[in-house]
Amino acid sequence: MSAPNSSKVPFVDLNRQHGPLKAEFTAAFHKTLEPNNFILGPRLEEFEKAFAEWVGAKHAVGVATGTDALHLALRAIGVGPGDEVIVPAMTFAATALAALYSGATPVAVDVRSEDALMDPAAVVAAITPKTKAILPVHLYGKACDLEALKKVTEPKGIAIIEDACQAHGTLYKGKRVGTFGVASAFSFFPSKNLGALGDGGIVVTNDSKVYEALTALRNYGQRIRYHHDSLGFNSRLDGLQAAFLTVKLPHLEKWNQMRKDHAARYIAGLKGLPLQVLSQPATPTADHIFHLFVVRSPEREALQKHLSESGIETGIHYPFSIPQLGFAKGVIRSTSCPKADQQAREGFSLPMFPELRNDEIDRVIEAIHQFYKGKTK
Ligand SMILES: *Cc1c(COP(=O)(O)O)cnc(C)c1O
Repeated sequence: MSAPNSSKVPFVDLNRQHGPLKAEFTAAFHKTLEPNNFILGPRLEEFEKAFAEWVGAKHAVGVATGTDALHLALRAIGVGPGDEVIVPAMTFAATALAALYSGATPVAVDVRSEDALMDPAAVVAAITPKTKAILPVHLYGKACDLEALKKVTEPKGIAIIEDACQAHGTLYKGKRVGTFGVASAFSFFPSKNLGALGDGGIVVTNDSKVYEALTALRNYGQRIRYHHDSLGFNSRLDGLQAAFLTVKLPHLEKWNQMRKDHAARYIAGLKGLPLQVLSQPATPTADHIFHLFVVRSPEREALQKHLSESGIETGIHYPFSIPQLGFAKGVIRSTSCPKADQQAREGFSLPMFPELRNDEIDRVIEAIHQFYKGKTK
C-alpha cells in the first residue's frame, strides 16, 4: 500500500531517543537490580539530588506520577476540604483531578487567547475568601506570567503550586521554572520533555516543612517506620525509574534546544498562513521549551484529515476544557471560559520531539501550504 516516500511523520518517536541510550539503561538496570534498590534508597536519592540541583531547588521528592506530585504538594501545604484551588480551564485533566483528590474544590478560570496560559485577570476575578492555592500550568512548555500571578495572590496569602509537568527546563526571567511557587510538580510520563520508562513524578520545593510533609505523605504517612502519624499514601518514584532518569537528565538541555530549533523552523515555514501559531518563540521573560507545538484553526478537522492523508500524525491538547469534562459536572466551580473552549474546538498539535528531522518538519509545512493552496483554487 505504501507509495514511494510515504513513510509517516510520527507525532513522537521515543525509539529515536532511547536507541542510543540502551547500553546506559542496561547499566542503570543492573545498578538497581543487584543491590535491590527498588523502593526509596540510593538510586532515588541520587536522582532527587540531581533533579533538585538542575531545577535550582533545595529539595526534590520523587513520587509515582505527576498527578500525585500535584495532589501531594497540595496536601503538604495544608489544602483540604472547604478550600478552593484555582486551575486554568485549558490543561490536562490531572491538574483539576489533583485538586479534587486533596478534598478541595477546583475553580476553573479562562486562559489567554494568545498562548492558552492562565490569565492573571481571570484569577483575580475568581478569588474568594476560600481560595487557598492556584495551580498555574506552564502549558505546552511555555512559562506562565508568574510575576503577575504572584502579585495577585501573595498579598492574600494564596499559595502558588506550579504545574510544571510540561516544562522541565523552561526559564522564567532567566531561572528554571519550579522554584517560583511554594512547591512545583513535574511528570516523567514517557513522552514528557524528561520521560521515564514508565510512570513517574517529582515535587520540588525550597521549604523544608513542605519537604518533610511530602516525605511522609508519599510513604504511608510515616516519618519513623510504623509510626503512621498522618494520613499518607503509597506513592514513590521507583528506584529503577530514578536510575533511568539519571541517565537521561544530562541530555535534557540539549533536547530542549533541539525542540526550540524545530519550533523556529515551523514558525518560519508557517508564516503568512491563516493559521494561528500559539507556540510563538520564547520571550526574554517567558521561555518556551515546546513540549508541544500547538496551532489553531477553525478548519481543524479538515486540516488534520489532510495531514493524516499525507502521513503526518497530529494530536489535540486538549479536546475539552476542564468545565466540559464529565467528572467536573457539579464538583468544580467555573466561570464561562470562551477562550479555553475555543482552544478545545480549534487547537491541534504538530509533530514535536527532539529527534524530529528537518526534512520531516518541511514535509509538515509543505502539506499545510498544500491545504491552503487547494482551498483558494
Ligand atoms: C502529564 C501532565 C500531568 C500528569 O502527569 P502524570 O505523570 O501523567 O500523572 C499533569 N499536568 C499536566 C499539565 C500534564 O501535562
